[in-house]
Amino acid sequence: MHIGVPKEIKDQEFRVGLTPAAVRALSDQGHSVAIEARAGEGSGFTDRDYLEAGARIVETAAEVYAQPMIVKVKEPLPLEYALLGKGQILFTYLHLAASRELTEALLNSGATCIAYETVALADGRLPLLTPMSAIAGRLAVQFGSRFLEKQQGGRGVLLGGVPGVAAGHVAILGGGIVGTEAARIAVGMGARVTILDVNLDRLAYLEDLFGSRVELLFSTRRTIEQMVPGADLLIGAVLVTGRRAPKLVSREVVGRMNPGSVIVDVAVDQGGCVETLRPTSHSEPVYLEAGVVHYGVPNMPGAVPWTATQALNNATLPYVMKLAELGYPQATERDPALALGINIAHSRLIHPAVQQVFPDLI
Ligand code: NAD
Repeated sequence: MHIGVPKEIKDQEFRVGLTPAAVRALSDQGHSVAIEARAGEGSGFTDRDYLEAGARIVETAAEVYAQPMIVKVKEPLPLEYALLGKGQILFTYLHLAASRELTEALLNSGATCIAYETVALADGRLPLLTPMSAIAGRLAVQFGSRFLEKQQGGRGVLLGGVPGVAAGHVAILGGGIVGTEAARIAVGMGARVTILDVNLDRLAYLEDLFGSRVELLFSTRRTIEQMVPGADLLIGAVLVTGRRAPKLVSREVVGRMNPGSVIVDVAVDQGGCVETLRPTSHSEPVYLEAGVVHYGVPNMPGAVPWTATQALNNATLPYVMKLAELGYPQATERDPALALGINIAHSRLIHPAVQQVFPDLI
């Protein structure tokens, strides 16, 4: 298979579709990779690294898109729509439900569009989304602790405390992937940690994982109202699959938090679970409301592209290999998880969740 890897053109996106290690694995199997010049720079990989791994460096996106299979990170932007062609395989994050314009453009392109985020295992796990949630969860505590610093507008609380002074309190709404990874880091720092979730099986799992180092509460309006006002760092990590995040923390409850406390709402990409939270960006990550520092960056892993690109590739490479080896439709016929990734094929909308959002495009 001939594979093309473009340089990402979305603002502040430094990740890249394939690492040099992934290129080497593909080359070893006889596939060829054409990568756009400087595509890996933001993730710490030079053109020389790619050449040594067996890739061909091409100067223009048009040369990349001349390949029958494209591997990238983010959804195509308008400049890229016209470069996609009939029968071409596009493997990337798509999030079609968020954009009618993109969905229509991809339908018109005739490309086979397979979305990372809907590749799903038999037990419902989303193997190509999980690594980004793990990164966002860990970053939530890293950023939260930074914005608790006085000079950053925070209360000046050290999460781990010191002997003789109480540790900071981290409250985490939702104990899924994001919540668990946030708790792991917060516990490691020595903070006092509370996780609230509505899934009893998940709470039992978290007890096995953390023992008595984490307080586990069933999430109700009452427990949230009791727990949140005393938190130095509140992390939003809830998800109700396919839906907007429920607004669990009201403006009134935020108003009862200590001045300089910090809210990191990781669920902001699904609308956020805190009433006062609005989306922010890496260039202006926080704002102050009701005396509380609010952080709501929807693409947190973009802050750590070196780690995020490798974590993404670790998860995507087996699927990339399968697609390269067998092509479409043989690869998706053999692998039911990959088949669930098909969002568009033969200019038709295939994925049921996206069909629900755009019934007139079916
Ligand atoms: P997950 O499905 O693994 O976990 C979500 C958890 O929320 C589940 O355990 C669920 O039981 C719990 N939950 C549902 N309703 C609840 C309620 N009312 N109270 C408390 N808990 C509740 O999901 P995840 O992978 O951890 O992702 C969480 C959110 O983070 C998603 O919105 C995801 O899109 C987002 N995310 C954002 C970024 C970013 O950069 N901002 C990156 C990755 C993921």
